[in-house]
Amino acid sequence: MNADAAAQRTLLDLAAIDSETARLNHRAGHLPEDAEIAELQKAAKAERDDSVRVSILVEDLDRDIAKLDKEVDQTRLREQKDRALLQAGTVGSKQLTELEHELRGLERRQSVLEDEELELMERREAVVLEQQRAEATVNATNAKIEAAGRRREEALADIAVARGRTERDRAALVEKLPADLVAEYERRRAASGVGAGLLRAKRCGACRIELDRGFLDRVARTLSTVVVNCDECGAILVRTIESGLPPGSADRSE
Ligand SMILES: [Zn+2]
Repeated sequence: MNADAAAQRTLLDLAAIDSETARLNHRAGHLPEDAEIAELQKAAKAERDDSVRVSILVEDLDRDIAKLDKEVDQTRLREQKDRALLQAGTVGSKQLTELEHELRGLERRQSVLEDEELELMERREAVVLEQQRAEATVNATNAKIEAAGRRREEALADIAVARGRTERDRAALVEKLPADLVAEYERRRAASGVGAGLLRAKRCGACRIELDRGFLDRVARTLSTVVVNCDECGAILVRTIESGLPPGSADRSE
């Protein structure tokens, strides 16, 4: 196909814009914040599990303490009742001995229960501290996730602005180019990823492969208004003064 040499050169600008768009898309898909957030969410889950585990410990201890409390109260009531009986002085000597024996037993029991309760209270205090630490860790990680989320949004907003710019630049370029040349460029781009490349130092700018002498000789003899495709990748091979085509070329573009 034929196309004005200047229009062919403009394809290099179009290819640069498309490469920039690809770079932006890659950046949007590989934000460091995404990996950071995934990592933090994993940590947050483990930390939440830990916090729940400690909360259950506190609940268990509260239940045990309440149970002991009730037992302490019951023992105390029983003790009061026995003492009241003793003070009333209405019991016989046999019952008196039994009451005194029971009272000593109740006192021992009470002392054991109070020790147990004290021990549970101390353990609870330690577990509550652990619970507070676990909650603080969860909150700190959540704050980090939120901060990373905000940075992620900012990065995506920057990328969106850059994309908007490349889209406008691209539309302006495409408008200036012949439709059939753009269509050919798009076909080549769809096939190999890059639509056009500059021929320079015997290499194709799209695939970077060094082209063979026979092919380059043919290119040198081809009019600049004829669209040439890379022998290796199929991209439109744009020739400029930088292409260093040998003297005697059929028609050097510049
Ligand atoms: Zn190529």
